[in-house]
Amino acid sequence: MKILLPTSTAGSLPKPSWLAEPEVLWSPWKLDGDQLVDGKKDALRISLHEQNHAGVDIVSDGEQTRQHFVTTFIEHLSGVDFENRKMVKIRNRYDASVPTVVGPVSREKPVFVEDAKFLRKQTTKPIKWALPGPMTMIDTLYDDHYQSREKLAWEFAKILNQEAKELEAAGVDIIQFDEPAFNVFFEDVNDWGIDCLERAIEGLKCETAVHICYGYGIKANTDWKKTLGSEWRQYEEVFPKLQKSNIDIISLECHNSRVPIELLALIRGKKVMVGAIDVATDRVETPEEVANTLRSALKYVDADKLYPCTNCGLAPLPRAVASGKLSALSQGAEIIRKELVT
Ligand SMILES: [Zn+2]
Repeated sequence: MKILLPTSTAGSLPKPSWLAEPEVLWSPWKLDGDQLVDGKKDALRISLHEQNHAGVDIVSDGEQTRQHFVTTFIEHLSGVDFENRKMVKIRNRYDASVPTVVGPVSREKPVFVEDAKFLRKQTTKPIKWALPGPMTMIDTLYDDHYQSREKLAWEFAKILNQEAKELEAAGVDIIQFDEPAFNVFFEDVNDWGIDCLERAIEGLKCETAVHICYGYGIKANTDWKKTLGSEWRQYEEVFPKLQKSNIDIISLECHNSRVPIELLALIRGKKVMVGAIDVATDRVETPEEVANTLRSALKYVDADKLYPCTNCGLAPLPRAVASGKLSALSQGAEIIRKELVT
């Protein structure tokens, strides 16, 4: 990346209220048929405009074409029955009605490739595309076929690799895998989770990232955070193996969190997307608050490897709040850029 401290978001941004009900997850579409197809494209254009207006350097689609970061990808696969739903506990935290794996899973056609081509045509900036990670995918399903979390994750890794290769060919610069489950199932992450992730990026020449957070700012997550004690040391469990992996960039939650910043030393050598925007509050950060978080991260991350980012997706926030936070991110990064060159 030629720009120092290139800014980006973890992924999702709020959708316009004419497209989907605002401030909720799994929000149903308000349009259908051709109107929905056009509406998603228009929303993507607006989302890109807002990122540009705020001065975001690495842009995304704001996840305007998907209802949910995991479910929408799974909906496009065969072997999963969306009518046959079961209640499961997601990341040991909250109950959700999820589809069932009823046979071998496969990707019969590309999922996001046309959307990525569309975004590529709209901008010359570097673009980042988010996909769900294999472990987070299996955690958002009921498996009635493989009867093995590891086997199913491995199948998803192969499918994600097919999609990632086509996204790369469509001109995506960074492919990011969202793995909030890495913050919960430490033993599995170290046994096979990171191996599956490496299978998903096999043969890619573009940059790759993994996003590991404490979740969207919804009540189930903020309640969970209250049980984690005064220091959140979850990253400590998975960083040593991630540091040795082929993943280029690690995207993390830092701002307003209880993650001890010195844990960043465990991934020295990796590029780090440092979460400098809290997604669990409507209060917009000041640029100086963003700068403070980046400054503390700089003690453990070389300046040329630090990518200012948001803690997680901004989808559940009011649009004006999200726009304000994107501007604060850019302005905070600019404060540090000036300090670094003087
Ligand atoms: Zn996240």
